[in-house]
Amino acid sequence: MKYHKLFYALLCAATLSVLLCGCGEEKKKKLLMVTEATFPPYEYRDGKEIVGIDPDIVRELAKAANRELVIEDMSFDSIIAAVQSGKADIAASGITVTEDRKKKINFTVPYVTAQQVIIVQKTSTIQGAEDLKGKRIGVQHGTTGDSYVTEKLQQPERYQNGALAIRALLTGKLDAVVLDNEPARIHAAKSQTLKILPKPLVHEEYAFAISKHNKELLTILNQELMRMKNDGRLQAILDKHMNKSGNTAEKPSIPETLWEKWVDSVKLNFIDDDRYLYLAVGFLVTLEIAFCAVLLGVLIGFTVAVIRTTADRNGNLKILNALCKLYLTVIRGTPVVVQLLLIYFVIFGSMDVDKVLVAIIAFGINSGAYVAEIIRGGIDSIDNGQMEAARSLGLSYPQSMIRIILPQALKNVLPALGNEFIVLLKETSVSGYIALQDLTKGGDIIRSQTYDAFLPLIAVALIYLAVVMLFSALLTRLERRLKNNE
Ligand code: GLN
Repeated sequence: MKYHKLFYALLCAATLSVLLCGCGEEKKKKLLMVTEATFPPYEYRDGKEIVGIDPDIVRELAKAANRELVIEDMSFDSIIAAVQSGKADIAASGITVTEDRKKKINFTVPYVTAQQVIIVQKTSTIQGAEDLKGKRIGVQHGTTGDSYVTEKLQQPERYQNGALAIRALLTGKLDAVVLDNEPARIHAAKSQTLKILPKPLVHEEYAFAISKHNKELLTILNQELMRMKNDGRLQAILDKHMNKSGNTAEKPSIPETLWEKWVDSVKLNFIDDDRYLYLAVGFLVTLEIAFCAVLLGVLIGFTVAVIRTTADRNGNLKILNALCKLYLTVIRGTPVVVQLLLIYFVIFGSMDVDKVLVAIIAFGINSGAYVAEIIRGGIDSIDNGQMEAARSLGLSYPQSMIRIILPQALKNVLPALGNEFIVLLKETSVSGYIALQDLTKGGDIIRSQTYDAFLPLIAVALIYLAVVMLFSALLTRLERRLKNNE
């Protein structure tokens, strides 16, 4: 009866992991700022820290509001939703004030003016907006540059951030990029082959975004912002950053041989600024999510499978069975990334829940649906005579199920369950959508800093591959052991 021990161990581990992850920290008086940290000089990463104009200003604002500043990095197109849903207190990301955005959130008073500009290769024949029609134009998804090109010109090519669009321009995949002037200046200065066209497309103002329900905070921040304008602190912050060139990722060294190029690239992507840490930390987060989610998935899967088979065989548990069917249909019928976003932004809307826990719940619920069907198949594969024999020996239905049927079913479906873990591990790579810094997101951050698409992606792929290979080897051993024990 070794199998049922294994089953209990899994059950306990799953329950424990969920409980442990569930014990979130006590709520502190903090000011959660969300930003997209690839927008120098407004926000960018310097080593592990997010620095720039916006963090510096908001730090002053937090002080005035007597709050502790916490900064979180997420994709620009989720930032306004994060403030609107109450997940974050303030969005500070070089956000342009627009009428559409005003419908969803409140803006503070503006703190700087900016422009949308056109960046092209120095050799390009494009001289202004009038030459852009029909060209391949890159923008950052969800920005005012995106809206401008979409409304006034054509469908642009949308990138996750400005740095990736610039990368595409540098490698000839685009003819022009439309971006905010200061980040554009910094990106262009780094590459030496790019230029900014003199005539801006449109003038804008940046402000911070606050939830419509948080009028009190808005008033405090506005008062302090006005004070900062008057006493020169705001100008000092702007001057300090505008004259610097942002992050120093790309150094203009000219490697000669292929080998030197390779060494240079490895150094830039992994060693400089300790960038390998993005992968190391991300890897641990990925493992944590995948491991806890698979346990949760197995727990849910077992429960659903037992309910479904019991209902099919004995005709009872009708309501539970209907609920399980609904769960299977909905979860298997919708993409996991949509489920993750719904759980994060809607279900846990204004609750301050640890994001790793949100991911574990989302992937666990998703995986549970597939595990349920795998296990149901496993239970069905056990001859009905076994249940009858167990019952005639005096075991109750649940006892027979747990002691006799499930352990054998589990052994039969072990390869399929292993496969489910492999799928799940790779599916967690969408965690970046809720600003979780998992392995894939770690690679993305390196790419946005070094403009090198190749090495960070290869490194990320190799790490996933290594884990899957190691896991497959372990699983094969376990299967062999179980067979030998028969
Ligand atoms: N100012 C632009 C906007 O608000 C871009 C901001 C950004 O990319 N961080 O849409």
